Amino acid sequence: MPPSPDRSIGSARWAIRSVPRRLVAVLVSVEILAVLVVVVDGVVSPPDVTATGLWTVAVLALLGMVHTESALGVERMRRRVDQTPHLDLSSVWTFAAALLLPGCLATAVVLLVYLHLYLRAWRPSGFPVHRVVFSTATVVLAVHAAASVAGLGGGADPFRSAVGLVLVALAVLTYGLVNLVLVVVAIRMSGSGTSWRRAVGHRDELLLELTTLTLGAVVAAAVSAFGVALAVLVLPPLVVLHRTVLVRQLEEAASTDAKTGLLNAASWRLQADLALRAARNSGGTVAVLLIDIDHFKVVNDRYGHLAGDQVLSGIGAALRAEVRDHDLVGRFGGEEFVVLLAAADVDDLHTSAGAVADRIRRRIGELRTEVAVSGGSTVIDDVSVSVGVSTYPADGADLDRLLEVADAALYAAKAAGRNLVRHGLHAVDEPGGSASRSPVHGS
Ligand code: GH3
Ligand code: MG
Ligand code: MG
Repeated sequence: MPPSPDRSIGSARWAIRSVPRRLVAVLVSVEILAVLVVVVDGVVSPPDVTATGLWTVAVLALLGMVHTESALGVERMRRRVDQTPHLDLSSVWTFAAALLLPGCLATAVVLLVYLHLYLRAWRPSGFPVHRVVFSTATVVLAVHAAASVAGLGGGADPFRSAVGLVLVALAVLTYGLVNLVLVVVAIRMSGSGTSWRRAVGHRDELLLELTTLTLGAVVAAAVSAFGVALAVLVLPPLVVLHRTVLVRQLEEAASTDAKTGLLNAASWRLQADLALRAARNSGGTVAVLLIDIDHFKVVNDRYGHLAGDQVLSGIGAALRAEVRDHDLVGRFGGEEFVVLLAAADVDDLHTSAGAVADRIRRRIGELRTEVAVSGGSTVIDDVSVSVGVSTYPADGADLDRLLEVADAALYAAKAAGRNLVRHGLHAVDEPGGSASRSPVHGS
């Protein structure tokens, strides 16, 4: 999976003016490194440009373009889904080029495929050129790294020996790793507040990347055994694969909040209902936590809406990190989050839910979000949340009642001064109730 513009840099609103300076430094360094690698490679081992080599460049680039054209419908649909990772799968062709061609010619395939992708798919959807240039640079570096690994066998056809096949497998991993590291570093440096976990991507995306690269190896094997025309055989399965990616993205988009990557309100409710039903059947318990950012309007007013969005995203990541994988974390409304803790094994749910809520409150109190402001960047470190807690079965038998009680508790926490935890039916003597109060104030 090549580092497409969406995934490379995070937010779709990413524009060069708002890019933190250290990210610009990373982008430019990667681009300079890519140029240097191509030049040094060309000087150290001047390519033996044969007619077969040029023919292979032409066929791989052409197939890459045909692939892009046949996937334009999928891409258009994907853009409507917004914010989901963008997989263009063109590494089939660029990885095959890495295995089959000398560095300079493989770079030519990358440039042709990416120029066409940019003109036909990315420019129409408004991706800035600098994002595409960075993506192309990471692919050029990945191609050279993979070619170096595959070439450790001394230039013999790698598909004819066990050692060669091991080297091809290592080249797949190298290509994927180089892309992943560069993309994740760029996302983390973008100041979008994207968590490591989100930046690295879903397990399915990583598997898809490996699958795509493996198909690239199959293309290279077919070409080296039977000639370059055989590469065309990979085109139909690739187009089908591309469509399955769309289905997964649609599924994910339908259940995910784009800004935070958490469950959206509808899918949280759906899953929370199931969890509550399971607790009812097994005699278990659950807790519901309603979390609302204190004086969030002040953050927006002071630093701007985009900075506010970064804070939202950071809080989403903090919430996810503070609870177990099977707990349900959702974005309920604008700056309101909801968590369901499934706790069949907890004796005193009231106390433990209160403790989790207070841990969440403290963690968010310690969050530092670096945001871009005119003339540089600043750190927002004075955000707090109020939390309302309710528990099943003590506070209610169904989800609506539990949410109602948690909402009343949240209101009590706000009324008592904010940056507090309150439990619905015991709002006065909650353990977190004595927590320090620190509503957002100036810095
Ligand atoms: P309180 O402590 O009483 O909760 O104060 P508050 O300012 O957080 O509450 P209020 O409900 O008055 O304002 C919520 C603010 O949240 C107003 C709105 O601009 C902001 N908000 C809602 N959704 C988003 C969003 O998606 N992004 C950003 N940046 N701000 C949002
Ligand atoms: Mg609110
Ligand atoms: Mg609020």
